[in-house]
Amino acid sequence: MYLDHFEYHAPQTSGQAMDLIESLGDKARLLAGGTDLLLMMKDKTLKPEHLIDINNVEEYKGISYEPGKGAVIGATTKIADLEHSTLIQEKYYALHQAAGELGSTQVRTMATVGGNSCHASPAAETPTPLVALGAKVVLSSTSGEREMPLEEFITGNRMNALAEGELLTRFLVPDLPPKSASRYSYIGLRDAMEIDAVNMAVNLTVEDDGRTVKDLRLVMGSVAPRPLVSTEVPSLMIGKEFDEKLLEKAAQAASEEAKPISDIRASAEYRRKVVAVLARRLLKNAFDAVREV
Ligand SMILES: Cc1cc2nc3c(=O)[nH]c(=O)nc-3n(C[C@H](O)[C@H](O)[C@H](O)COP(=O)(O)OP(=O)(O)OC[C@H]3O[C@@H](n4cnc5c(N)ncnc54)[C@H](O)[C@@H]3O)c2cc1C
Repeated sequence: MYLDHFEYHAPQTSGQAMDLIESLGDKARLLAGGTDLLLMMKDKTLKPEHLIDINNVEEYKGISYEPGKGAVIGATTKIADLEHSTLIQEKYYALHQAAGELGSTQVRTMATVGGNSCHASPAAETPTPLVALGAKVVLSSTSGEREMPLEEFITGNRMNALAEGELLTRFLVPDLPPKSASRYSYIGLRDAMEIDAVNMAVNLTVEDDGRTVKDLRLVMGSVAPRPLVSTEVPSLMIGKEFDEKLLEKAAQAASEEAKPISDIRASAEYRRKVVAVLARRLLKNAFDAVREV
């Protein structure tokens, strides 16, 4: 489990980082927290000749927020910074919850939010709430920038839409309308450092009457190669009054929509049951939270 030789680069500016990415091409890998990358280098799945450490580039890190517009989250923002941000906790509760569940304190101190989406594990913690919150990613290169919804950026199991010469520089998370709440949860085989068997996030908005569902996103993780955005649950619930009967139908719809596989962590059948449980629980929690505001 030793690392092969590689050349280490530590650009200080975005321009320097993008020049290096362009000139070194596929001989190089970006190093963010290293909590996925270094393991893959140790087990020889990856053998980059160069590592480009992007942690010194100030503009790639940190969280800012503008009312009416939303939050900008830099790609190298640490998961621990998301977890402890009062802004994230107040405005984007599902993301706060997911950040607090990723790995251990040590892992959260090193790991970045950009690395979590770029590595694109189907069981990853933060893409699920970010997609539910409507986040877009900004991809940058020497030729400019482009934006896309996070659910389009993650194209499959450990696959993403980065083109040659690009890196993910930030997430744009829209401001939520009034009477909205988001919630996240997961089920794993034990309660410490496990990989999620299923995770889920919901982002719910209700009308002024406090009962009718105005808008809803429900996203499932670990039940498909990439975050699965439910179409069935919103079409069932939007425009209807929230009650127990509707909740039950929504939970069943989510369960039928999931596309889980059986693996060492759980059977497909168990995952489907868990999807129904999480959907029921999170929709109810989000609805109760909206009514408390
Ligand atoms: C013990 C342990 C427990 C863990 N538990 C969890 C868990 O519970 N939930 C979970 O989701 N994950 C978990 N992980 C996985 C890992 O910590 C996360 O996926 C983490 O967010 C990865 O971020 P990083 O900054 O460390 O990425 P790195 O390892 O630095 O990079 C990962 C990949 O993304 C690329 N990359 C990184 N940043 C960018 C960027 N800005 N633009 C383009 N490409 C980029 C890298 O080149 C590399 O290919 C765990 C890992 C360990 C070691």
